[in-house]
Parts: sequence; C-alpha cells; structure tokens
Amino acid sequence: MAKKVTQIAIYGKGGIGKSTTTSNLTAALSKLGFKVMQFGCDPKSDSTNTLRNGTYIPTVLDTLREKSTVNAHDVIYEGFNGVYCVEAGGPAPGVGCAGRGIITAVELFKQQRIFEELNLDFVIYDVLGDVVCGGFAVPIREGIAEHVFTVSSADFMSIYAANNLFRGIQKYSNAGGALLGGVIANSINAPYAREIIDDFVARTKTQVVEYIPRSVTVTQCELQGKTTIEAAPDSEQAKIYFRLAEKIAEHKDSRTPEPLGIQELRDWASKWGDYLLALETGNIRPELQANL
Ligand code: ADP
Ligand code: MG
Repeated sequence: MAKKVTQIAIYGKGGIGKSTTTSNLTAALSKLGFKVMQFGCDPKSDSTNTLRNGTYIPTVLDTLREKSTVNAHDVIYEGFNGVYCVEAGGPAPGVGCAGRGIITAVELFKQQRIFEELNLDFVIYDVLGDVVCGGFAVPIREGIAEHVFTVSSADFMSIYAANNLFRGIQKYSNAGGALLGGVIANSINAPYAREIIDDFVARTKTQVVEYIPRSVTVTQCELQGKTTIEAAPDSEQAKIYFRLAEKIAEHKDSRTPEPLGIQELRDWASKWGDYLLALETGNIRPELQANL
C-alpha cells in the first residue's frame, strides 16, 4: 500500500523568507530520510532555486504554453539530495490571474496521481500569501494541504499578512479547508521581536513552531546558490533548520486560528509602537506596560 503523503503549505508576505525557509526545510527533511517535493507557487518562480545550485527550472505554465499535453514528469526536476522540484509559474506579466499556475499545476498532478507514484512523504507548497484569493487559496481551500504554516517576522506588514491568512483559513475551515500548524518566526534577533511575535500568536490562538535568526550564513549560502543545509550543514543556522524539520515531521494537531479584527490589530500594533518608543527613550511608563 502506498504511504500517506503529508501536504504542507507555507504562506507569508513577499520577501519575508518563505522560499529560503521552505528550501532549507525541504533539504533538512530529505537529510532526515524523507522523500520530499517542493512545489513553488509564487509567480516569481524562484522557490526551488537554492535546491538546484542557483538555477531556474521551466515552470508548469511555461511548459503548457509550449505543448498542449504535459506529462507531470516533464515539469519535475531533481534537486539537492534527490528532492523533487516544481515551479507552478505565472501568467505573462500583466495578464490574467497570478494564481492561475497553481490551479493548473495542482490539477495536473492530481489527475496523474504523481504523489502516489513517487511515493512521497511530504509535498511542501511555497505560496505567496499577501492575498488569499483565487489560485493562492487553492492549497487551503480545496483540502489539498493538511497543515498551513506562515513565515513571519515581527514587522507589522508581515504580521498583517499573517493575520489575513488566518482569516482565509478561518473562512474555509468549516468546508474541509486546511488548518493552521503555526508561525515560523523568521529574522528574529532582537528580544523585543520575539516578544511581539509571541504576543501575536497568543492573541490569535496559535503557536510559534520555531524562531529563526537572521544570519549571514544564510546569505553566504544563497550567494553560492545553495541552502544552508547543503553549504553549511554544521552551522548553528543549519541546526535550527533541522530542528524545524523535525518539529514539522512530527506535527499533527493544526487548529483554526482566531484572527484579530482590523481595528483590533491596529490598536495592538500601536501599543507595541508606544512600548518600543518608550524602550528607546528609556522612559517606560508602568501603565503602558500593563496595557500590553
Ligand atoms: P520570499 O520567498 O518570502 O519572497 P526569500 O526566501 O526569497 O523570500 O527571502 C528574501 C531574502 O531574504 C533572500 O535574499 C534571503 O536570503 C533573505 N533571508 C530570508 N531569511 C533569512 C535569514 N533567516 N537570514 C538571512 N537572510 C534571510
Ligand atoms: Mg519566494
């Protein structure tokens, strides 16, 4: 009997570190002995770049534009340590729905029963999550992914995107949609960054799965076209990605988050703003702290 494939979607604001985190997660899971496919769902189509020595692969949509019928194997490329890489691709710039590639690619793979054929343990979708609409909602909405994780820093815009994602998850949760596994906190160096993200997850009834510092090791490896797991496997940063991979491999219980309302989120952010200003000026009013 074919084993069950666990499908995971990683969402987050553009530029926040989704592809970096996902590629390191994929690489680490493969090193732990799992069979993994990374499925890039960003119209930028650069998700799997560091799994393939900095090279770009033809996307599902590009391939479909050239040939009328596509065998799924034509769009699957081998990456580091035997992982499978796919890029859904996007429409020609300025034309059509940017989520189109996801809808098409997911349908193609479903029809051809590729995950079963390859006997995969994990499929990890790397999805641009500023908007949970159209094609971008597919991994959540259609019950494709079982667990959703979001990459977020402590910056407001990133938390705002995460909160929007939570609203999308909540909306589809009664109709068999994916549930939230938690937040992967990225670029967390300052102590207050950790406090902000901890406070946000507590208020939205979710959890932080791992705290990932911003690290020059990641930058160095990326400049070589590689993940940290490949180029600096013994580094402190690689240990953190391995820890993340172990936690995600064992993860079972995802939940419906409780997103904040727009005004609630604004008020929450303002209080943190006041607090950080007070920290900077050394003038912390006790009533301010009590309000946080
Ligand atoms: P996204 O996929 O969310 O658009 P990327 O993964 O492409 O974002 O990351 C954007 C940039 O930030 C990349 O150059 C990446 O190397 C860098 N980056 C992301 N996370 C880290 C980190 N923890 N430490 C150092 N650099 C990072
Ligand atoms: Mg990306």
